[in-house]
Amino acid sequence: MDFEDEMAFTNFRTPPAVCPKCGYQMNAATPATPGTKTAPEPGDFSICIECAAALRFGPARCLREVTDEELAELALEDLQGFQLLVKAQNVVATLAGQRKKKR
Ligand SMILES: [Zn+2]
Repeated sequence: MDFEDEMAFTNFRTPPAVCPKCGYQMNAATPATPGTKTAPEPGDFSICIECAAALRFGPARCLREVTDEELAELALEDLQGFQLLVKAQNVVATLAGQRKKKR
C-alpha cells in the first residue's frame, strides 16, 4: 500500500480496524515518537485510544491484543519501546477517565 500522500500528516490512515478488547473502531494511528515518518508496519505495537489495550498490528494492519509473553519479550528486547507503550497506556487511561467524569 502507498502511504506517500499521507506523509504530510502526523496521523497515518490505517485500514478500518476494530479494537479486539472494546470494539472501538479506528482508522488512524499516531506515532508515539514525534517526527516518525513511517506508517505502522505489521508487528508494530499500538494501543487502543479508547480502552488503552496493548495492541499489535498484524498482516494488512489489522489489530489484535498483545499477549503477556509479547509484552515480556518487548521489555527484554526494547526497554525504551516498552516504557513508551506503558506511558502511552497511562495517558490514554487518564484521558478516558476524564471523559467519563464529564459525561
Ligand atoms: Zn479498545
